[in-house]
Amino acid sequence: MTKKNYLLVIVGYGGMGSYHAKLLKDNQNIEVVGTYDISEDRRTASLADGYKVYESLSAVLSDDIVDFVLIATPNDVHKEIAIAALNAGKDVICEKPVTIYSEELLEIMEAAKINDRAFIVHQNRRWDEDFLTMKKIYDEQIIGEVFHIESRVQGANGIPGDWRHLKEYGGGMLLDWGVHLLDQLLFMVDSKITSVFANLSYILGDEVDDGFQVFITFENGITSLIEVGTTNFIQLPRWYTKGTKGTAVINDWDINGKIVTQNLGEVEAPKPIKAGQGLTKTMAPPSEKAVSTSDLPKVEKTMESFYENVVSVVAGNAEPIVKNEEVLRVLRLMETIFKSAETNQVIKDFDLVPSKLN
Ligand code: NAD
Repeated sequence: MTKKNYLLVIVGYGGMGSYHAKLLKDNQNIEVVGTYDISEDRRTASLADGYKVYESLSAVLSDDIVDFVLIATPNDVHKEIAIAALNAGKDVICEKPVTIYSEELLEIMEAAKINDRAFIVHQNRRWDEDFLTMKKIYDEQIIGEVFHIESRVQGANGIPGDWRHLKEYGGGMLLDWGVHLLDQLLFMVDSKITSVFANLSYILGDEVDDGFQVFITFENGITSLIEVGTTNFIQLPRWYTKGTKGTAVINDWDINGKIVTQNLGEVEAPKPIKAGQGLTKTMAPPSEKAVSTSDLPKVEKTMESFYENVVSVVAGNAEPIVKNEEVLRVLRLMETIFKSAETNQVIKDFDLVPSKLN
């Protein structure tokens, strides 16, 4: 039976830590009982928000009433906090990117196994409506068999905050946003990756990447371009996907976009158009009769929310939606992307599942 109240402490009460507190305000099963943060300002903020302040991590871990530790610190300390919490018998929720290196996640997974505790990563963008809309188009073959997927996020505000500019904290856009877009892609496309080519950008002069483009090829023939930019004053669509029968575009977070599919049967041939200094039939828009335009499909709730799932997992009623093996694959893919960018090479011989887990 699911316990009514699990008590949770947030470690790292900054932007995301306090956002979790807001998300959990009306949660039926999980209650935030306190926070721990190394910053005096954030302790004051926690008290002002009505949450008890713990004086140290060990004070959190030795408090028997605490069931869950939620880690929302910068990325470099996720591992040490996670292992200490698991060893203290707590279940752990951890922000993304779970760790900077895949080896660190293996250590955490080992600690979770030894202590028989749940360790669940907050890959919250698996629940984003834009992603679920594109996943539905993909799964239901609304544009035929998908053969190319472009997924991008672009801003014009540079790298935000302080620690995100520094390597030692796990800064940079590949680790920050790349982890979400790659997690979505691998959650959608169930096929082995056969090649990776990446280009990281350093336009802003930081020691970490301020954006990137990654080209990925899957064994089933699907190609993908994943792109993150922080110096884009004009944005390209969030998603652009091609299938054997049509094309789908999602422009923004508000799910504006459309689907254009080819009509079956005899269709009028396109008429040549004047294009620049020449004529073209190839690049002319399809005749009206040749295609149909439709709205994007609406997504219905098909899986538990993140926190519903966390509670089901610790109650022994469900498998985690975000599995650690999947998170590990994404970390290893990011390591491959760094290697491709450093060497300016297409990387082909790699395995996203480490041999110790095979
Ligand atoms: P932030 O800088 O706003 O907050 C981090 C907080 O952690 C700060 O208050 C800092 O004082 C505290 N801190 C640092 N070291 C600590 C330690 N050893 N022990 C306790 N507290 C410590 O950063 P943020 O934007 O909130 O990011 C935090 C984490 O959340 C990162 O891993 C980030 O990638 C992730 N994040 C996830 C999402 C998402 O959508 N899933 C969005 C934003 C951030």
